[in-house]
Amino acid sequence: MTDIFDILIIGGGINGAGIARDASGRNLKVCLVEKNTVGSATSSWSTKLIHGGLRYLENYEFRLVRESLKEREIIKKIAKDIIKPIPFIIPHIPTQRPKWLIQIGLFLYDKLGGKTSLPKSKKINISSAIPNILKNKYNTGFEYYDLQVDDKKLVQLNIDDAKRNGAIIFENKTVTDVLRNKDFWSIKLNDNTIIQSKILINASGPWINEVLKKTIKINSKKVIRLVKGSHIITKKLYEHNKAFTLQNPDKRIVFVIPYKKNYSLIGTTETEVETPDNPEIDKGEIEYLINTVNNFFIKQISSDDIIDTFSGIRPLIEDFKEASKVTRDYVFDLNTSHNNAPLLNIYGGKLTTYRKLSENVIESLKPFLPSNLLTSWTGSKEL
Ligand SMILES: Cc1cc2nc3c(=O)[nH]c(=O)nc-3n(C[C@H](O)[C@H](O)[C@H](O)COP(=O)(O)OP(=O)(O)OC[C@H]3O[C@@H](n4cnc5c(N)ncnc54)[C@H](O)[C@@H]3O)c2cc1C
Repeated sequence: MTDIFDILIIGGGINGAGIARDASGRNLKVCLVEKNTVGSATSSWSTKLIHGGLRYLENYEFRLVRESLKEREIIKKIAKDIIKPIPFIIPHIPTQRPKWLIQIGLFLYDKLGGKTSLPKSKKINISSAIPNILKNKYNTGFEYYDLQVDDKKLVQLNIDDAKRNGAIIFENKTVTDVLRNKDFWSIKLNDNTIIQSKILINASGPWINEVLKKTIKINSKKVIRLVKGSHIITKKLYEHNKAFTLQNPDKRIVFVIPYKKNYSLIGTTETEVETPDNPEIDKGEIEYLINTVNNFFIKQISSDDIIDTFSGIRPLIEDFKEASKVTRDYVFDLNTSHNNAPLLNIYGGKLTTYRKLSENVIESLKPFLPSNLLTSWTGSKEL
């Protein structure tokens, strides 16, 4: 291949796909390399929510929640065939979070993102609004809305649009080695193809530091913790269209969400792991999720009710807090060492913020891109 690309992206998860779409739509020459198929890793193992992240307010993450709520509104418009608004019920537990705290949180959640087309939150009487689902002691609750998304399709739609814009997408090809020059990178794939690109973006999700160390051969300035989150899928636990946001004694949240036509999706957990490869649910996580459901629901479940499970890995930037308190925000690490061709490493992020993240990637690379670069466009064109 003789062409020099403007940008080569390692990783075809939602972040890589979003960047490929955005950059190619601004007439940049883009190549993306994915070692499996696009959207086959973390981006299809999520809880499948486009959400502001109500619980991040407790950690004072107002920037992240505001951006996520704004993005929720945009994604609702540009990906309307693959999203669905869902009402979430938080059963009130006086010993956990007081009513006033939840009400302040929901007030902010309604307001922080600006104008929203989703219904506002409200207090409800659980026994009359959704009778015979939760145990009697859960009488008062709060209802708010978020979106459910087909996460894997969201990746695919971004990739399809990137291709329409001229991006070259390689699947089942691994970036195995790179050589850094003053003005460009030479990037080697596992089939010995060499590709040249002016800018390299490492969007390999939980593999980020592995790719950085073993393939790009630079030591990361950021320490990450790999934290596994698992889900179980059961036959649907109830007939309603509502989801539940369940507060656990450990202060964590577990969601029970209607999934496809006949199922309930229940998750997630937080277990530190050593490697990003092949995450699988363990016995402790199964027990934790089953116990949570059984604490709240009249219908009791056991491991026999589990139809399927899946797990994904969060690459959380180490800040020595409990995993549930570590930020879900994204961080860029731009490396231009000795004025060589630039490398941008992308840490963290959420499905919800992928579009804005992609815009911010282009913004942060502007000094290295043509001065007549087209302006941002992805917020108003349907996927
Ligand atoms: C359990 C869990 C639940 C979540 N729930 C939500 C949610 O409900 N809502 C939300 O907004 N966010 C959620 N998130 C966060 C969201 O899923 C992630 O932020 C997002 O999917 C990360 O996308 P990514 O592109 O960074 O990583 P990935 O999707 O993992 O993509 C990285 C890709 O890089 C590829 N790769 C690695 N090395 C190489 C190489 N050498 N060559 C080529 N390719 C390579 C991998 O194969 C992979 O496909 C959740 C995360 C987890 C773990």
